[in-house]
Amino acid sequence: MPWKWSWLLEEAGVRKLLSTSSLLYRYLLGRGDGASEVVKCALCPNMCRHACPVSIVDGRETTSPAGKSRLAMLMERGLLELNQETVKPVYACLSCEACKRWCYFEFSVSELLQRVKSKSVSAGFAPPGALEVLSNLRSYGYAYGRPGRVAPQRGEILYLAGCTVREYLPGLAEKTVKLLEENGWKVAVVDEKCCGVPAYYLGDLELFKEVARTSRETVSESGAETVVTSCPSCTYAMRVLYPRFGVKLSFRVLHITELLSQHLNRFKTSSNKSVKVTYHDPCKLSYSLDEPDLLRNLLVSFGVTVVDPWRRGRETFCCGYGGGLSFSHPQLAKMIAGERVRELSQYAELAVTACPTCKLAFQSNGYNAVDIVELVYDLTR
Ligand code: SF4
Ligand code: SF4
Repeated sequence: MPWKWSWLLEEAGVRKLLSTSSLLYRYLLGRGDGASEVVKCALCPNMCRHACPVSIVDGRETTSPAGKSRLAMLMERGLLELNQETVKPVYACLSCEACKRWCYFEFSVSELLQRVKSKSVSAGFAPPGALEVLSNLRSYGYAYGRPGRVAPQRGEILYLAGCTVREYLPGLAEKTVKLLEENGWKVAVVDEKCCGVPAYYLGDLELFKEVARTSRETVSESGAETVVTSCPSCTYAMRVLYPRFGVKLSFRVLHITELLSQHLNRFKTSSNKSVKVTYHDPCKLSYSLDEPDLLRNLLVSFGVTVVDPWRRGRETFCCGYGGGLSFSHPQLAKMIAGERVRELSQYAELAVTACPTCKLAFQSNGYNAVDIVELVYDLTR
């Protein structure tokens, strides 16, 4: 099968140039060779900028994808001092991976920025909101400070609500457990720990590994073979990031949308309920877990009339609160959420999403959003 960017090599005449330009050859074909990745991105004319929500809303060169890589490159080479001010734009990233979708090298800028973020965390230069979350994770294994305790219950499938649901949307956790139990699962819950993904986004990789190991132990002790999460970032952390960091799992991890779509026949919806909604594909589900159509397909399967928004599926637009941006740059996070709300509200008064952080972002910015679980819960009674 041809590589998806083969056309670009042909178009640029690279094959003819190979013999005369080894620099161009190394630049275009030397993908994935570690240290030089941030340099390649820094030299790129921002080819993914049109898809980056931060760039679209903030509009500044320094917070554009290549702009952030340029800063990171200069700091890594000691050409720009790393301090609280210089590192600020580096944290203006949602870790949404919209850039990766358009990048010839398939770079995720958020990953290219990890080294500089790590250094800034060690030096105490990360934005104050980010440092606070990291301190909470270190002290409590919870993103928002000291958590309330959860009374464990045993079952065949373990539900992990995640920090945002526990802190801000406890009703969603209750409905999720009830919906699953009503439809044939015996649901286990534990006094869960954060999956650690905020530490990964904010650049404390040692802390991420530590929280990941604790979280894995908590799940393993429950004896569950299947874990289901409300938050796609928790699924992404456990399924994709944990193995990358050597934290091996003895259980499988599913996002709630994956579980629902695998067991559609268990759910009976009430035929007299007609609902018309638009929807918001969470970036972690669409991009990072490569499930761009899952939410829409689920809605259609449950008989919901959907109005497609302009930015959806493989071209979705982050809610603004991803990647810890609401901690590091709360104002910018609000502006991006506002942009997304403006778009979605043109299509319908209600949007359905599949990520508690997105729901929180929209609700906090005056737009009515429900999680797919809440919608299915209502449709099945
Ligand atoms: S992520 Fe890729 S497309 Fe975007 S600026 Fe960097 S190298 Fe260019
Ligand atoms: S991860 Fe998202 S916010 Fe960060 S540079 Fe890429 S597109 Fe922009």
